[in-house]
Amino acid sequence: MLTIDGSMGEGGGQVLRSSLALSLMTGTSFRMTNIRAGRARPGLMRQHLASVEAATQIGDADADGAEIGSTSLSFRPNGVCGGDYTFAIGGAGSTTLMFQTVVLPLLLSTTVPSTLQLIGGTHNPMAPPVDFLQQVFVPALAKMGARIDIAFERYGFYPAGGGAWSATVHPTKKLSRLELVERGEVRSRRATAVAAQIPSSVAVRELTTLATALEWDRNDCRSLTVRASHGPGNALLAIVESEHVTEVFSGFGARGVRAEAVAEGVATETARYLRAGVPVGEHLADQLLLPMALGDGGVFRTVRPSTHLTTQIALLELFLGVSITAEEESDDVWRITVPAKT
Ligand code: AMP
Repeated sequence: MLTIDGSMGEGGGQVLRSSLALSLMTGTSFRMTNIRAGRARPGLMRQHLASVEAATQIGDADADGAEIGSTSLSFRPNGVCGGDYTFAIGGAGSTTLMFQTVVLPLLLSTTVPSTLQLIGGTHNPMAPPVDFLQQVFVPALAKMGARIDIAFERYGFYPAGGGAWSATVHPTKKLSRLELVERGEVRSRRATAVAAQIPSSVAVRELTTLATALEWDRNDCRSLTVRASHGPGNALLAIVESEHVTEVFSGFGARGVRAEAVAEGVATETARYLRAGVPVGEHLADQLLLPMALGDGGVFRTVRPSTHLTTQIALLELFLGVSITAEEESDDVWRITVPAKT
């Protein structure tokens, strides 16, 4: 059984989710202490518990310490079972982070297709929005030979939640090598501002601020009025489509945060990516490491590694004994090399 200090690196939910996924795929049991010690409210919150429960369900696993507030967990998997699953997080816990936990095991460690129905938050701060999974993560996995279909149904925002979407995961024996070193020509730059049960002027202000900051054509920025959500919410998405990759940058409205501030945050992140000239943005970078390390490895260029990325590197070393290298090429341009699984 591996012993993992949950406070390592980023010290957040990702250490737990990645450990669950790696445990399911390698059959290695683990005991984690100091869960989310790096966060203001440490321990398992509802959202993390939902990921533990989902992993327990698909892996027929035994889990000790799976309770709200728990700072330690033992997890013993017993083989991944593909099938039809419904994972509902009460409230607005992030369904996309729960998906991150189970998608690779269902893709690589079973032989039957799985369908997932996910209910909860779909557009949460500090998590990939479903749009990112659909337009960025799933297409990147498709380059490695994976087939995952996502159908979006309803927006779920904090605090009401109630969003819904589904995914079909078609298992594959092996993921092929990924080479993503060039972005190629940027083909389209566009933005969408979602306004659910809030004045549409919020979306208009966000798009105007974003278009001005990035010098994008205002005609490529559209607002989307949503009525069918369980509660109010707002998301701003900037989409950069290039020859070899698509990236999505996102920000979320919150009480007391001005629309202009949301847009400036998204504009800063988008401008950084465009300036660096790399194909892979900060978030895709940490999300690519598990599938690459479990597949045929590969290489990509990205911006300066985040602590999420360096934490994934440390965790993969622990579970798989692989040595992933991150080399600086120039200012905010890094090359990440992942060896093939032996
Ligand atoms: P943690 O903060 O440890 O719960 O991990 C958050 C995960 O969500 C990491 O894999 C991040 O890369 C990912 N993430 C956070 N914000 C975004 C975003 N705006 N777009 C895409 N992925 C994100």
